[in-house]
Amino acid sequence: MVDKILADCERNGVTVNLVNASYIKENGVDCNGFFDEDELELRVACKRAFQIWIAVLAHESCHMDQYFEECACWLENYNQNDAGILLDLWLDNSIELTPEQLNKYVRTVQWYELDCEKRAMAKLRKFKVPIDMGICIQQANSYLFFYTMLAVKRKWYRKNRAPYEKKAIWERMPKRFLPLDAYAQMHSEYIALYDKYAF
Ligand SMILES: [Zn+2]
Repeated sequence: MVDKILADCERNGVTVNLVNASYIKENGVDCNGFFDEDELELRVACKRAFQIWIAVLAHESCHMDQYFEECACWLENYNQNDAGILLDLWLDNSIELTPEQLNKYVRTVQWYELDCEKRAMAKLRKFKVPIDMGICIQQANSYLFFYTMLAVKRKWYRKNRAPYEKKAIWERMPKRFLPLDAYAQMHSEYIALYDKYAF
C-alpha cells in the first residue's frame, strides 16, 4: 500500500514527507499528518506504532484522492470556501456563524471525513494491511461524532485528548460506518464520554 501511495503522489506531483517524529506541528497545533492542497504535500508523523501511522497515511492519501477526483464532497467543501477552515476561525472567535451556517459546515466536514474514512478502510483492506479494521472504524467514528460535539462546545479537544486516541471513547463506538445524518445524533452516553475524556 505504501508503494502504491508513493507512486500516486509522484504521478500527481505531490511531495511526500514521512517524518521521523511523533507529531507534526501545523499552524502551531500538533497533528498526525496532513495533505496540503495548496503546497501539494502529504506529510505523516511515522515515529508512532505501525497501526497508527499506516492508518494516518491511508487517511491523508485519501484526502489527496478526493482532491484530484474533485468528488462531490470535496466540491461542496470547495464551494463553501473550506468548511473546516471556517470552523477553525469560529473556534478561535475570529468569526461568528449563524446556527444554520454552523450546522451546514459541520455536516460538510463530516461528509468529506466520512467519505475519506471509507476510502481509507477500502485501501487498507485492498492491500491486506495487518490492522484491526473494527478498531480503525471505531476510531474513525469517534472523530466523526466529535464534530457534532465541537459545534455544541465551541471547543477543540484538549491536548493529547484526541477522541480516536482515547480508548475510553472509541471503544464505545460502532464497528461499522453509519449514514451521515446519524453522526448528528449525540446520545447522552456519548456526550458524557466526550465531556469526561476529550474536553
Ligand atoms: Zn481527514
